[in-house]
Amino acid sequence: MKKLGSLVSGAWVEGKGKPAQLVNPTTEEVLAETSTDGVDMAAAYAFARDRGGPALRALTFKERGALLRKFSRAIHEKRDELIGLGVQNAGNTRSDAKFDVDGASLTLAAYADVAEELGDTKMLVDGDPINLGRSSKLTGQHAYFPLHGVAVHINAFNFPAWGLAEKAAVALLAGVPVISKPATSTALMAHRIMELAHEQQLLPAGALSFLAGATGNLVDQLGGQDVLAFTGSGGTGAMLRGMKNVVEHAVRVNIEADSLNAAILGPDVESGTDTFDLFLKDVVRDVTQKAGQKCTAIRRVFVPRERLEAVREALAERIGEAKVGDPSREDVVVGPVATKKQQADVLAMIERFVQGGCRAIVGGGKPKSPLGVDGDRGFFVAPTLLEASDAASVVHEHEIFGPCTTLIPYESVDALIASVRRGGGGLVASLYSDDKKLVREVVYGIASSHGRLVLGSEKSAGSAIPPGTVMAQLVHGGPGRAGGGEELGGFRGMELYLQRVALQGYGPLVASLVDGARRV
Ligand code: NAP
Repeated sequence: MKKLGSLVSGAWVEGKGKPAQLVNPTTEEVLAETSTDGVDMAAAYAFARDRGGPALRALTFKERGALLRKFSRAIHEKRDELIGLGVQNAGNTRSDAKFDVDGASLTLAAYADVAEELGDTKMLVDGDPINLGRSSKLTGQHAYFPLHGVAVHINAFNFPAWGLAEKAAVALLAGVPVISKPATSTALMAHRIMELAHEQQLLPAGALSFLAGATGNLVDQLGGQDVLAFTGSGGTGAMLRGMKNVVEHAVRVNIEADSLNAAILGPDVESGTDTFDLFLKDVVRDVTQKAGQKCTAIRRVFVPRERLEAVREALAERIGEAKVGDPSREDVVVGPVATKKQQADVLAMIERFVQGGCRAIVGGGKPKSPLGVDGDRGFFVAPTLLEASDAASVVHEHEIFGPCTTLIPYESVDALIASVRRGGGGLVASLYSDDKKLVREVVYGIASSHGRLVLGSEKSAGSAIPPGTVMAQLVHGGPGRAGGGEELGGFRGMELYLQRVALQGYGPLVASLVDGARRV
């Protein structure tokens, strides 16, 4: 039995006590065990802060970027092996796993590019100098310096590779050491990435530590120079945000949580047009890709009442024909969900939606006989299309984190905007329309409750990037239910790890302190 270690205080250690098991969700075979019981979290934290922090801060942005570039290449070189682990441990099809692994290497590379732009300095300048007196003798200048603490990163089960890389890239470039914790159930891929980083000594000692399991009392160590960045369920996020030391020491917290992402078909879009096809493609992809386990997946599909029948028919056909089964088979597009608990949660939530006024158009339970799967094994859920009645408020209150989406008809633009906003804050919404006036009205109506809005139109259809794809250049996060966080977005994501300081004094002296630094 493979035993996963944790990389803390510069060395691999194994925990004691009863281990957690990592399972193949297709065969239910146990793949590995792990425990962090007995790992000295206080020592791990101190090592990261006292060894990793100074080592990173001794480097310029450009030098840190060179480390990220090497890290990106190391992941890319082992792409096939990592994809295999995604198929085995996360129920990913090869295409799903590529999305995760390539997302990791591309995000690291994107931040290596940001580093090139930031240049050979160790701090950044924010805005222009400000005259504080009648003459230019007294100046104020805002500037950014890296925090002298540790970033604890806690990730969700659905993107073990990208989750590790997208958070680590930003913190490391800012100059802050990281302790990263993947979700235990799908940790194999992240664990292998850390083995590569350690074997090849890609980063200074203490710059990137790794916990293959529970965090124990790690979060209790955090103070005012530290960061806690979390991705997962709203409940866990709220608990972490409310921890005594986190509140008392104003630990910086970033939370990426649930989201009832919307896709909106404009009333102007007729069946058979490029815009209509783009809309269908995006919805179907989000039901099938990663078995619907993407934080950005479309959960609510808003359709003008007069187009409901056409959309229902087209989606039912495409979702109904998606092949479910062993994700290592080339003909399969939907693998199992990641764990038995996840399967039970998704099935129970579908049932709750049905009780709450939705009806199943396609799917709605376990699939009959998943391809290439032995008997009743595996944590499969049939790709599901639901349709909400007007009374079904459940669809605006709960996320089904699996291969499922719900059709919601609307009567007017005002009603649409109100209905989308009932989601309580989302990561992304996509709007499909070629009517500029309508696009403006909807964007102004829903912008404040979203982190990202994707505008699909005839002109963009040929080169559109799906709404579920998170880009390193654009912010990822959303208000309210989505956690109120913001990651990535080029330099913007780095602000979480930097202190903005107002330098105030004799103009030439202030100017000499920031001389040569990039203005952001
Ligand atoms: P979860 O139970 O909250 O777990 C998320 C992470 O938190 C895991 O690493 C888990 O570790 C850890 N964790 C759980 N309890 C903890 C505690 N008391 N102290 C410290 N860490 C703790 O979430 P999930 O159900 O696995 O994830 C699915 C949810 O994540 C979905 O609702 C989805 O919407 C959301 N999500 C959001 C985004 C986004 O970017 N906004 C991305 C992906 C997923 P263990 O695995 O060891 O328990």
